[in-house]
Amino acid sequence: GVTPRTPFIAGNWKMNLDHLQAVAFVQKLHWTLKDAGHEQGRVEVGVFPPFTDLRTVQTLLDADKIPFALGAQDLSTHDSGAYTGEVSGAFLAKLDARYVIIGHSERREYHAEGDDVVAAKVQAALKHGLVPVICVGETLEQREESGPTAVSVAQLQAALANVPADADFVVAYEPVWAIGTGQVASPEQAQEVCAALRGVIAQTLGEDAAARTRVLYGGSVKAANIASFMREPDVDGALVGGASLVVDEFASIIRYQK
Ligand code: PGA
Repeated sequence: GVTPRTPFIAGNWKMNLDHLQAVAFVQKLHWTLKDAGHEQGRVEVGVFPPFTDLRTVQTLLDADKIPFALGAQDLSTHDSGAYTGEVSGAFLAKLDARYVIIGHSERREYHAEGDDVVAAKVQAALKHGLVPVICVGETLEQREESGPTAVSVAQLQAALANVPADADFVVAYEPVWAIGTGQVASPEQAQEVCAALRGVIAQTLGEDAAARTRVLYGGSVKAANIASFMREPDVDGALVGGASLVVDEFASIIRYQK
């Protein structure tokens, strides 16, 4: 039996909204969505604030019974110790964070995180019971050189090394040329790569894992284009950056109709 994949709309705030702004934002979003399907489990909504907001947002979600999943944007490969500035998966788990983004292109680029670091972070997340949201994607140059799927496939293969077949994780295909540029991938382009990534999961972890694991598209997702992505068979949701910071826009994305 194949478990149906609940669509996942994830808001990656990046370095935006301090903890006070986060409270106002989450309350407004919840109010705006009151009659939307996230209450009935039609779609899972995730918010990924900066580290400094996590405790505040967790307390709010808990106190007001707001059904958003909480996620962090990164974690350390270490559990604890002399690692100045790092935040461990153990701390995130204590905050009831369910998800953690790993291997976002901004970390790969600005913090020189290679496939080895990404794989170690996936292991750290799983060790602490967090669900990694593994990000992969090619630059425009790489797409022209090696085609649409090769880079993402190799990145996911590396990230899934030593991951057990029953592990809970999410994959996000985010072409670097579509992130924050307004230059969105076409639904067909997203489908092509997301299908290839599902193939990697099948080869590495088996058909069951491939059938139950959600593969998201990310890169300039907006209310106006979300439905076109969600119609694709291998796109199970979206990782949303800029548009996740505007209450009405993000609420419209969550309310998409196929
Ligand atoms: P964007 O960012 O929606 O602003 O393009 C997506 C992401 O980087 O996760």
